[in-house]
Amino acid sequence: MPELPEVETIVNDLRPFVEGRRIVKVDLLWPRVVECPSPERFVRGVEGKGIVWIKRRGKYILVKLDDGSFFILHLRVSGRLLLNPPEEDRYARVVIHLDNGDRLVFADPRKLGRAYWVLKAEEVVGHLGPEPLGDDFTLEAFVQRLKGHQCTIKSLLLNQRFLAGLGNIYTDEALFLAGIHPQRPASSLSQEEIQRLYEAIRTVLREGIERRGTTFSDYRDAFGAPGRNQEALKIFRRAGRPCPQCGAEIKRTKVAGRGTYFCPRCQPLFRGKH
Ligand SMILES: [Zn+2]
Repeated sequence: MPELPEVETIVNDLRPFVEGRRIVKVDLLWPRVVECPSPERFVRGVEGKGIVWIKRRGKYILVKLDDGSFFILHLRVSGRLLLNPPEEDRYARVVIHLDNGDRLVFADPRKLGRAYWVLKAEEVVGHLGPEPLGDDFTLEAFVQRLKGHQCTIKSLLLNQRFLAGLGNIYTDEALFLAGIHPQRPASSLSQEEIQRLYEAIRTVLREGIERRGTTFSDYRDAFGAPGRNQEALKIFRRAGRPCPQCGAEIKRTKVAGRGTYFCPRCQPLFRGKH
């Protein structure tokens, strides 16, 4: 599933091609992709509008239109947003035609991605927590937000209301880098652990963006190319292999219903027990 670095890569790829252009036509090939409003109103809302800017918020793609409204996409599990794909895509759900002949194709084999047209972006993204790479996400802000949470640290990091943009891959990588077991209660983290985790979250996300995202199966950038971050992962999907830090065997468990990878030696569940 695309997480913050993958969506950031797509948005950065598309920016020079779409900002300032006009949307002349929208082909809605699978109407149920539209979460709100109705499919007819969605097409009427987007068609004919100029694109002011494209940005990422959490895992959402936000496109501001020149009447002040917003076209918003969430790729979910298998969605791709492609610029001028060379061949007809049998999984194309929405095709957006720009005034210079360019096409933006939202393709999604599993049909879980969603499109929105709204007057205010907050209607869709208002529930999201802070941006982990944003200037206002300071260590102090992280410390404050962690207070009083009894759930496991992994499920809290996956909660988009707590922090926007992390998914299964980057959460496991950040917890490994910080040496924190994914099943630790969030409220049990020491000040030093919180600081390590704060820095680890920002490091794994920045590295993911630098390597243009992680591709295991579906994710592609806006030009159809896979990312390179999967080659640099230290813990995710590496069960049975040696930990790159200590050599112990990497384990897999389930946390918050998600496959979770960790090193039992570098990430002890109980402090002081190695
Ligand atoms: Zn280890």
